[in-house]
Amino acid sequence: MIKKVLVGDEKYKVLIGKNDIFKNYLPDSIKNNKKIFIISDKNIPTKYIELIKRPITSSKVVNIHKIKAGEESKSFSNFQNILNKLAKKKYDRSDCIIAIGGGVVGDLSGFVAASYMRGIDYIQVPTTLLAQVDSSVGGKTAINIESGKNLVGAFKNPKLVLISSSFLKTLPDREFKAGIAEVIKYGLIYNKKIFKIFQKNCKLILQKKPKIIEDLIYESVKTKAKIVTEDEKELGIRAVLNFGHTYGHALEAQSNYKNILHGEAVAMGMRMASKMSMLEGHINKDDYEKITDLFDALKFSKNTSNSYSDLKKFIMTDKKVKNGNINLILLKNIGESFQTQKFDMENFKRSFS
Ligand code: ADP
Ligand code: ZN
Repeated sequence: MIKKVLVGDEKYKVLIGKNDIFKNYLPDSIKNNKKIFIISDKNIPTKYIELIKRPITSSKVVNIHKIKAGEESKSFSNFQNILNKLAKKKYDRSDCIIAIGGGVVGDLSGFVAASYMRGIDYIQVPTTLLAQVDSSVGGKTAINIESGKNLVGAFKNPKLVLISSSFLKTLPDREFKAGIAEVIKYGLIYNKKIFKIFQKNCKLILQKKPKIIEDLIYESVKTKAKIVTEDEKELGIRAVLNFGHTYGHALEAQSNYKNILHGEAVAMGMRMASKMSMLEGHINKDDYEKITDLFDALKFSKNTSNSYSDLKKFIMTDKKVKNGNINLILLKNIGESFQTQKFDMENFKRSFS
């Protein structure tokens, strides 16, 4: 069965199902587009690209462009190469880009789609759990420049997002678990149902049982869509999506974005932000323990090696710090969160241990 979420003012569809989703929904949505430019990376199994190409009528021109896997590919030179290739092959605004891959492919392709001829249709097929539950909603696209990650980009919504839970079978376990961290985030900040699904089904989730993973993807996409729709330009409540990220980004920066995946850093950050929520008197010890028990059961590591003084400089340079004030997202309850700049600095320091 296909699950559907409508996102934003444009009400684009995110459809969640298995591999037959492409046969049933792709041809319809590209009916009016003339040519198709597929962007993917070299680690994405070729059979997925074949599967997506199959239902596209043979009369359409389809080009495939593969980038190297990894964050370095979100580069200005790749951005430029793709734009040149589109121009040489005479793509115009009536054509369509399909992005098949994780966040790297999605971010780069989305920015290309936002820029080429001031905007061309694009369809997203996210293949990592993280991209399925995070970058499929929100319209953020970006590339990295020397001065920093995601510094150049645009808001650009896809025309359609097609999610097949079957693609996760080949995703490395470590990448899968990093995605799980963001799913837990939705449970903690907004949707207690997700937290309860985790408490009951840890084992099945780690075994990637399709039914339960699809439920989690659906609940996550629905939650993010709800938060983002209320706040398309990131002024207010959208900030709660950064729960655990102030700490997490500092941990990532400290390790020079090596050896730690974004989701792993965010999982550590969420433990710390939950501790801070308890120290500040918002959640009780009982709820705090339920949260840490869940991270333990899923075998997420703790931050054991970095104190406040180790991470201070990264915290203060985070994009979310304005006028020297640290914006923290804290929990009021499991499933309820808020943003604050007022907190006890001693508690903040203690939340790192
Ligand atoms: P993220 O979505 O976390 O930003 P990336 O785009 O960096 O992830 O992808 C992480 C890695 O997983 C890359 O090497 C990518 O090629 C690989 N990958 C993505 N989706 C799949 C999949 N379904 N099966 C196997 N490998 C995949
Ligand atoms: Zn994140």
